Amino acid sequence: MTPPPLAVVVDLDDTLYPQAEYLAGAAVAVGAAATAAGLDGERVHAALVRELAAGSDAGGTIDRALLAAGVPAGDLPALVPPLVAAFTRHEPARLVPYPGVPAALEALAAAAPLACLTDGNPVIQAAKLAATGLEPLLAVVLVTDTLGGRAARKPSPGGLLALADALGVPADRLLVIGDRPGKDVAVAAAVGARAIRIRQGEYADAPDEPRAEAVTGSFPEAAALALVLLAEVVVPARSAAAPSMG
Ligand SMILES: [Mg+2]
Repeated sequence: MTPPPLAVVVDLDDTLYPQAEYLAGAAVAVGAAATAAGLDGERVHAALVRELAAGSDAGGTIDRALLAAGVPAGDLPALVPPLVAAFTRHEPARLVPYPGVPAALEALAAAAPLACLTDGNPVIQAAKLAATGLEPLLAVVLVTDTLGGRAARKPSPGGLLALADALGVPADRLLVIGDRPGKDVAVAAAVGARAIRIRQGEYADAPDEPRAEAVTGSFPEAAALALVLLAEVVVPARSAAAPSMG
């Protein structure tokens, strides 16, 4: 039987709060910056919302939005940097976590060391986390990009290994909770750790590849299952056959 996990690592985007909420605010900020640059800000905003809906993960989103909004390709080199900066600098005042997340995180934090492993621009990820109000519940937060840019993002195992070190537990005794099989479940598998997938957010329909130990529909459900796994007692295989002393 697999030994019980000793610490829990949670993802941020689409695990603790709906990332669409953040993206909507950032798109508004880019629209305003486009207006300030003399463009049709509403048109740029609308095009960016469409690009983000098609997938928020790829680079070049603002370039594609500007082209879709009718901006000549030759104007992009001058326009893109300030608009990317407007996106990056966007600091949401408040990002409302998914229902039940604060209480579920509190319960996890009381049961085991709790950390957060997230991909993305470190400035942006810090602003998001601050806006959720959840940071005090997370003993350690690691943004993979600080370890080596995009190449260090999940499922690259470096971030999870660094967290295991920081928490003082073997990496294969971590339990990862996250929404993306290709990142959160895969990074757990890469170090021999267990994972619970939450089917919500932008990747809710992604196939279970690789397969998680369990798939749940919400963070509180995943946390409840994590608490059960953390409380598992390892019974030595022979103890059932031990002679009774009664
Ligand atoms: Mg995520």
